[in-house]
Amino acid sequence: MTTTAQQLVEDLEARLRPLEIELARAWWESSTTASPEADARRADADLALRGALADEQAFRAVRDAREDAGLDRLLRRQLDVLHDGFVPHQVPEDLRRRLVELETAVEATYNTFRGELDGERVDDNAILEILRTSDDAGLRRGAWEASKQIGAEVADQVRELARLRNQAAQSLGYRDHFALALATSELDEHRLFSTLDEVEHQTRAPFTAWKADLDDALATRFGCAAGELRPWHLDDPFFQDPPTSGAIDLDPVFAERDLVELTLRTYDGLGLEVRPVLDNSDLYARDGKSQHAFCIDIDRDGDVRVLCNVEPNERWMDTMLHEFGHGIYDREVRRDVPWLIRGASHALTTEGIAMMFGRLVRDPDWLARIGELPTTEFDELGPRLDGARRAALLTFARWVLVMTSFERALYADPEQDLDTLWWDLVEEHQQVRRPDGRHAPDWASKIHLAVVPVYYQNYLYGELVASQLAATLRRDAGGLVDERRTGALLVDRFFAPGGSQRWDHLVEAATGEPLTPAHLARELA
Ligand SMILES: [Zn+2]
Repeated sequence: MTTTAQQLVEDLEARLRPLEIELARAWWESSTTASPEADARRADADLALRGALADEQAFRAVRDAREDAGLDRLLRRQLDVLHDGFVPHQVPEDLRRRLVELETAVEATYNTFRGELDGERVDDNAILEILRTSDDAGLRRGAWEASKQIGAEVADQVRELARLRNQAAQSLGYRDHFALALATSELDEHRLFSTLDEVEHQTRAPFTAWKADLDDALATRFGCAAGELRPWHLDDPFFQDPPTSGAIDLDPVFAERDLVELTLRTYDGLGLEVRPVLDNSDLYARDGKSQHAFCIDIDRDGDVRVLCNVEPNERWMDTMLHEFGHGIYDREVRRDVPWLIRGASHALTTEGIAMMFGRLVRDPDWLARIGELPTTEFDELGPRLDGARRAALLTFARWVLVMTSFERALYADPEQDLDTLWWDLVEEHQQVRRPDGRHAPDWASKIHLAVVPVYYQNYLYGELVASQLAATLRRDAGGLVDERRTGALLVDRFFAPGGSQRWDHLVEAATGEPLTPAHLARELA
């Protein structure tokens, strides 16, 4: 029995491996050089992979092979991963094709669309610069509105994507796409929403108190009443991060610095070699290039790449440390782990690593030793760093509540008034007033809804992993700055096993307890 299962897994690896690698290469190309050819190559690669995953006969064989209770552990893991990979694709070919074509078209629009401000096309960095620095409320409003224009451009298509995804999920017997996506990514919906409730509960009071202080500061800055504040008075178009007025302004720390150098210095200090990732990366803004940031493992054989649009400021420092966290994880999975499971254990474990490193930007130890902040500045900033770290965690947690609740509702009923629902959730969780009389699909300006659906819960779990793992590293290895023991521990306990361990087992084995919100809660107290 095991021999047959072994043979099946080997056959499927041989079929899927070249398709996955081609898709990764095509995806990289279309994200770095927009062209109709690149989009077509990517759509073809996507279809080819989905076609292989739609193979009914292979799916049945995987399902049958899993029935054998006596399977070797690694073999079982590979079959489980294959099973979850095949399930979503057991849908009719025309539906599969429509999904791929629509997803590719929408993503191309996100990559190339530039909002308009005073008759000029502006990129995301220009919009963020205004929101970060300008005291002119009119200009800020224009910039914020420009950041939402993409929403109107793609809303109908994103809604159509939700319908098609639901149609696929329902044909497989799932309630909707949301339920299917969780079920095929080793997540339990009930557990997810009880964790979200717990996070909502633990963050409500501290967030409300912090937000009231922030509103006072913003009202003073803009010379208006707190009740007149609107989303454009914040620094981030989605309020994912705290504005500098409410926390601390670290941008000057990075204004003259080389962010690549600081990234290298951070990982070198832990004995983690990220140069091979750096060599393959594309780090600076260009026309026709994706304005976002990501890390991709092209071949699970060492070719790992990061895409960024680096500017010397706090946000991009955080992002660089974040993406290279993904990168080092991918690089350090043991090469003798079978290819099908030779990657991060789960999206939430790799987000956890990435977030843990991204947080270093506000870590006093990191700022002193790697940021090389002069003592005078450190004396000035130091006492406020704790508050800044807390503000960042609170703000992000409240934003995740919006995204995850919205996404569940989107798939529960794609026909509902999503424009109103979005602002209801933003007002409830983020305590940001909607612009008066605004009826626009602002939700659709968030690229994740279209391109990486039902992914946001991984950021929430990632925060929990980051807090829990950081506590372990402080206890067992001395922390995250210039500690080679930390690098070694991360590689041994967390990176090396790759997908050979399920995420919940991995977290428990690495930290000594199951994943819990307790460590995050401690940082918010
Ligand atoms: Zn990430």
